[in-house]
Amino acid sequence: MNRWRCLECGYALEAELPPEECPACRKKCQFVDNNCYIPDCGQ
Ligand SMILES: [Zn+2]
Repeated sequence: MNRWRCLECGYALEAELPPEECPACRKKCQFVDNNCYIPDCGQ
């Protein structure tokens, strides 16, 4: 599973692939990889 975050509203979710339409703002948002938000990321 990967973590994704909506650039429009900041909505975060876990999925293999980001959804085409954001469940929170119901637009075709751009989702960014949010994996490095977890503390174990190391960076
Ligand atoms: Zn959104």
